[in-house]
Amino acid sequence: MFVIMRAGCTVDERNRLVRVIKKVGLPVQVSESGHRVVIGIGGDEERLRDTPLDTFPGVEKVVALKTPHPLASRECRSESTSIQAGRARIGGNGLTIIAGPCAVEDGELLLEIAHAARAAGAHMLRGGAFKPRTSPYKFQGLGEQGLRLLRDAGRAAGLAVVTEAMDTGHVDLVAEYADVIQIGSRNMQNFALLKAVAKSDIPVLLKRGQAATITEWLCAAEYLLAGGNENVALCERGLVSFDSAVRHHLDLSAVPLVKRLSHLPVLVDPSHGTGKRELVPAMARAAVAAGADGVMVEIHQTPHLALSDARQALLPAEFEQLVPQLHAIHDIVRTGSVAVT
Ligand code: PEP
Ligand code: MN
Repeated sequence: MFVIMRAGCTVDERNRLVRVIKKVGLPVQVSESGHRVVIGIGGDEERLRDTPLDTFPGVEKVVALKTPHPLASRECRSESTSIQAGRARIGGNGLTIIAGPCAVEDGELLLEIAHAARAAGAHMLRGGAFKPRTSPYKFQGLGEQGLRLLRDAGRAAGLAVVTEAMDTGHVDLVAEYADVIQIGSRNMQNFALLKAVAKSDIPVLLKRGQAATITEWLCAAEYLLAGGNENVALCERGLVSFDSAVRHHLDLSAVPLVKRLSHLPVLVDPSHGTGKRELVPAMARAAVAAGADGVMVEIHQTPHLALSDARQALLPAEFEQLVPQLHAIHDIVRTGSVAVT
């Protein structure tokens, strides 16, 4: 449900309404569209049965919604959300480029990658310190030491950093070192983790589960918004498929679809999305053409020696070639025209 306030409603009228809704224990999201204030309400509307919101001063109308994810929906907030993530911004008019190794492996290597990423035009550095590996015998990440190396490399290169937390017990630790906390594909419906991350106000990159529907993905985002964290960005990263020709099937139709359904920024990870280095540049370009707010790309100076996801990392030089192409495509999408030179 959402409430549209009358044009020119007072701050007192708006605050009073927010107080009343919060008092019955429902989450609220206030947004301004043009000069209209819209108050989105999540949760069980039954709790407002005895509170006729449409009679409150300043209220123009109350609109019922059928969606299970009202706070994430564009109906509740028509303007697109953008998020400040350290020195980087996700969403809005810009294109956010995130690059880095799959995992933090070594301080010197990481520093080199961070500088190369920055020189090529990346805004953020990625790298896992807690790695979700299929096999327990594979490299699991460096833990807190990896977080420290990531933070230091980001600082040295002037990049914001994003890294994954897999466990509720690691949320505060990751938040201490990172600008953005990643919830990985395998944990998209780890509801305890979603609730824990919702309690912190660190920006979140919520990857789509590899077998999750769009509704399930947006409901996972709703957990974060309803729990009080409004700094949520989404990341499509490919779905399981019947066809092993690619590692995952990158669902690029999710980009324009989710951008219609939701106000949240949508990024794309073409690295996990294909699992094949040679397909990554084309799918990154396609993602931006589809309207993505950014891409997250794995890069490594010696991909064949990478401790995880060796088959999908781009070389820094390949990444450097890609970045201007992404900006050129983004300009066309944003302005709706091809610059004639
Ligand atoms: C990652 O980005 O490091 C990762 C493990 O991705 P995903 O959760 O999408 O598999
Ligand atoms: Mn990886």
